[in-house]
Amino acid sequence: MSDSAIIIAELTASVEEAPARAAAATTWLLDQRIIRPNDRPDPLWRPSRYVPGPAAPAAVRDTHDSNGPVGDGIDILDQRQVHDPGGNYTPPTCSNCTTQLAEDAHITLVQHWLDRTEPIATCENCATSALLGDWTGQWAIHVASVAVHFNNWPPLADAFLLGLSDHLGPRCRLIQKRI
Ligand SMILES: [Zn+2]
Repeated sequence: MSDSAIIIAELTASVEEAPARAAAATTWLLDQRIIRPNDRPDPLWRPSRYVPGPAAPAAVRDTHDSNGPVGDGIDILDQRQVHDPGGNYTPPTCSNCTTQLAEDAHITLVQHWLDRTEPIATCENCATSALLGDWTGQWAIHVASVAVHFNNWPPLADAFLLGLSDHLGPRCRLIQKRI
């Protein structure tokens, strides 16, 4: 099993839209040869439906050693769920003044997001209000109906993330997960 993941979650896709967005992203990733089907899925060793393709090194930042394997499997999810950063969890910060949300307040807001709709959070320092998914941070929690998990991949290149967001939707969020 993996011990880290880069998650790209898209926040505008409705439950109804998510399967089509996930399919569009999958087709693009396959066409770019960033991923390929996993010929031998194994529930313990290699559970993901997709594995890195021959062009996977093009999706990661230059710092990656191009001779080594890029990472493990890729999961493309189209069900509404919580995408959490595991052991990296840190409450997000205000986009205006960088004050961090209190952890207990944040968890309450995430629960509201999961049960109902995305809440608005107000900064206790500068009173800026923003949708919870617009607070800043790569170690926060998002509720999304479509997401791509890159298990044990190194940091992804900005150009690749832009290309992926063209297919997932306009409100992509990156989550750095540690298990
Ligand atoms: Zn603030």
